[in-house]
Amino acid sequence: MAVGSPNRPLRVAVIGAGPSGFYAAAHLLKNPHVEVDLFDRLPTPYGLVRGGVAPDHQKIKSVVRQYDKTAQDPRFRFFGNVELGRHLSVDDLRQYYHLICYTTGAQTDRGLDIPGEHLAGSHSATAFVAWYNGHPDFRDLSFDLSRERVAVVGVGNVAVDVARILCRTPDELARTDIADYALEALRHSQVREVVMLGRRGPAQAAFTNPEVKELGEMEDADAFTLREEVTLDPLSQADLAAAPDRTIERKLEILQEMAVHRAQSRSKKLIIRFLVSPTELLGDAHGNVRAIRLEKNELYRDDRGGLRPRPTGQIEELPVGLVFRSVGYLGVPLPGVPFNARAGLINNADGRVVDPETGRPVPGEYTAGWIKRGPSGVIGTNKACAVDTVDRMMEDAARSEHLHPGHPSAAEAEAFVRGRQPDVFTYPDWLKLDALEMAAGEAVGRPRVKFTRIDAMVAAALR
Ligand code: NAP
Repeated sequence: MAVGSPNRPLRVAVIGAGPSGFYAAAHLLKNPHVEVDLFDRLPTPYGLVRGGVAPDHQKIKSVVRQYDKTAQDPRFRFFGNVELGRHLSVDDLRQYYHLICYTTGAQTDRGLDIPGEHLAGSHSATAFVAWYNGHPDFRDLSFDLSRERVAVVGVGNVAVDVARILCRTPDELARTDIADYALEALRHSQVREVVMLGRRGPAQAAFTNPEVKELGEMEDADAFTLREEVTLDPLSQADLAAAPDRTIERKLEILQEMAVHRAQSRSKKLIIRFLVSPTELLGDAHGNVRAIRLEKNELYRDDRGGLRPRPTGQIEELPVGLVFRSVGYLGVPLPGVPFNARAGLINNADGRVVDPETGRPVPGEYTAGWIKRGPSGVIGTNKACAVDTVDRMMEDAARSEHLHPGHPSAAEAEAFVRGRQPDVFTYPDWLKLDALEMAAGEAVGRPRVKFTRIDAMVAAALR
């Protein structure tokens, strides 16, 4: 009897329980006779929805209801607190599954590659985001919030999140599920001014309109731009005239409005700068950041018609005590899985993992989401991406192009996993944690109070 039939279900391991992992699982389960085990190195599911989405964006987090529905399918299992490369290897997975799909996202950040980048007080935005969202690996970091002025390098939506969290009042933050230690630290924050730094112009800013508009709607912070930096340059103007784009026009309106209405009534200031690139972080005698050196840019048209920044030689020094670089996430390799280090992606063609030596697909191995295509798009973008990969998986499986595991049974896989990690979290274990977090939140009028230590999660749900 073929694999994928009533007595021989197609068994699939999905590695990484963020949005892409759940979307892959959901699409796989649309086929009869498919079983999915979704692994995550954390005890908690949902990846960046829990550890990345800003705590003051609770509505975005309601997407987990869809994932929860997927998890209710009796052919779905969650194995949390199980790490590939630590508790199991790819070779182990090959013994238990016909197909493997990697959906581990982009877990680290891109650097700026400028002098002073590693001074005390210079951090990656991704670490700060993971810290305020209570990610267990980042919860013990500390950020010196006694500084008055902070620079955030980059003008993508992550930079916007970081700037907003730094500018929110304790009351605004208390209405969110921000980690309790972060709420406490931010309550005592001395930060008064946050400067976001875009290397290109306002028309090229990566942030989306609702996100930048929200910066003008905070309780106790005013958002500003500089008129000369939000006045459209001739090249962008020509591009917009040739191909009118309502979204960009609206973005310009929002940013230009921020230059005109410079209300000064609120206690914090957020300044969005354009056409400046950091060239160096300057330190004080104790090795702490004291300033960021910026070079003014102008735009030029590159060979492919895109508008790129180039330095004009005009330098300015901005005194700052804290710097967050927010210039994009970066994928990290998984042990035993071909990786394209330059791109920060699993080496793949259309979601099929490809051996770089032979250029041929690695049998039975696939990838979806940010680790397949890079850190871009909104949460829903990963749905189409995962669906595409799963379509390739099912096409291959229909041609019997899958692995031939010695132990293709759900019971054997679970026994193996438990042998390697006795503290495995099932979906019901997570639901127990979830209920405890919500109850702790309800007691203090917050959406939830998160567990942020793995040993506390184990004690609460497994013991
Ligand atoms: P992003 O959107 O790619 O933005 C990266 C920013 O860094 C851009 O402004 C980029 O400028 C800048 N940059 C890159 N290299 C630089 C350098 N060497 N010097 C100065 N600036 C540099 O990445 P992201 O903000 O990390 O967000 C990742 C994805 O998640 C995005 O698709 C985003 O929309 C999404 N996201 C969405 C939300 C939401 O919907 N609320 C929230 C968070 C994240 P250039 O354009 O000039 O390269």
